[in-house]
Amino acid sequence: MYDVVVVGAGPAGSAAARLCAASGLKTLCVEEHATIGHPVQCAGLLSMQAWSECRVSRKAILHTVSGARVITEKGCSLAFDAATPKAVVVDRTALDEEMAQKAAEQGAEFLLKSYACGVRDGRLHVQGADGTADIPFRLLVAADGPRSPIARILGMPRPPVLLSGIQADIPHQMEGSCVELYPDASPDFFGWAIPCGEGRARVGLCGLQDVPGRFSRFVRQFDKRRMHCVTGAIPLGVMPRTYADRVLFVGDAAGFAKPTSGGGIYTGVRSARHAADVAVECCEAGRFDAPALRSYEDRWKEDFGRELALGYRLFQARQRIGPEEMAELCRVLGDPELLRTIVASGDMDRPSTLVRRLLLKPVVMRACGTLIKSELAKFVTG
Ligand SMILES: Cc1cc2nc3c(=O)[nH]c(=O)nc-3n(C[C@H](O)[C@H](O)[C@H](O)COP(=O)(O)OP(=O)(O)OC[C@H]3O[C@@H](n4cnc5c(N)ncnc54)[C@H](O)[C@@H]3O)c2cc1C
Repeated sequence: MYDVVVVGAGPAGSAAARLCAASGLKTLCVEEHATIGHPVQCAGLLSMQAWSECRVSRKAILHTVSGARVITEKGCSLAFDAATPKAVVVDRTALDEEMAQKAAEQGAEFLLKSYACGVRDGRLHVQGADGTADIPFRLLVAADGPRSPIARILGMPRPPVLLSGIQADIPHQMEGSCVELYPDASPDFFGWAIPCGEGRARVGLCGLQDVPGRFSRFVRQFDKRRMHCVTGAIPLGVMPRTYADRVLFVGDAAGFAKPTSGGGIYTGVRSARHAADVAVECCEAGRFDAPALRSYEDRWKEDFGRELALGYRLFQARQRIGPEEMAELCRVLGDPELLRTIVASGDMDRPSTLVRRLLLKPVVMRACGTLIKSELAKFVTG
């Protein structure tokens, strides 16, 4: 009998497995693929904070980033550069591999090429290369990504939004150490170009509709040679309940990606930390019913729940911003004093402080328009 079985060896699953094993729990991580970190479904941009949460060596780092340029179709652009590293661009396969390696070093076992397809009476049903198995567990941690088969098996309601994303690695020399953001390339989210060193860039976008069409139009302005293409989904809006009897949901499986950027590694690994703490307490107390697991939800909410709630409102507000409003917003935010505020208070993982500071400026509020104002008023006042 395992104390904890983790489904999925992405960043959230490996972090949960590492922390559970390090606390002395008998831990197994089940992964459907034969190798860890494949296929890549990520741009690999992590804030310094997100990077340090992963607790790995610097091996996976390809490049560092210190600022951003927002480029609109209406010709208005906005640029800020902190002149100090704010984020890293990583090789996601190398990151996932090392995170799994760290978990194994702490004693977590890994079962690869094994698909979790059933949960019944404290057992996980797995189909693998060597046939099927029923694995007994005390607690299950579902870290099985955006489509979470475990949530579907258990009939849990899912996050309300599923973004689609496409990205290509291309030969493209980018200026300096800034990421480029193209809001008009995907009017319900955004497009990006991220420098990844050695004259290469990751160019992609996420959106709610016509994503392949938007992507092929967007990518035309860059080099036509594509070296590596990535597609994937990002759930936005946390699932209504992130725990069930004997089960905790972490990372994308719970819908923890940040609705402002689609980045999910920071919150995924933070949620794994809270899940591991609760796992240790529940194993000690011998209680795994839903009321005993509820403290997991209290903990992640206390940690980053408010940021995700604000992010979701910003995502909804974004749906109402057309190219004209976006250009106007960039023009307004280009004011030198506001740029200093952006550099001083900007935090990729916790944007609420910056958003509140900016919205307190009448000129920004005016540029946001009435609809957006009502969406965000709560965050300005409280
Ligand atoms: C185009 C794109 C760009 C992105 N860019 C960024 C970025 O720059 N920065 C960032 O922070 N985030 C980014 N993200 C989001 C990021 O990739 C995810 O938030 C992150 O991978 C979530 O980690 P996870 O461990 O929760 O899930 P995943 O990484 O999805 O891992 C889930 C694992 O579970 C396995 N699995 C699933 N079902 C089963 C099953 N039934 N049995 C066994 N194994 C199973 C999968 O094979 C997978 O290995 C991006 C996403 C996309 C689509």
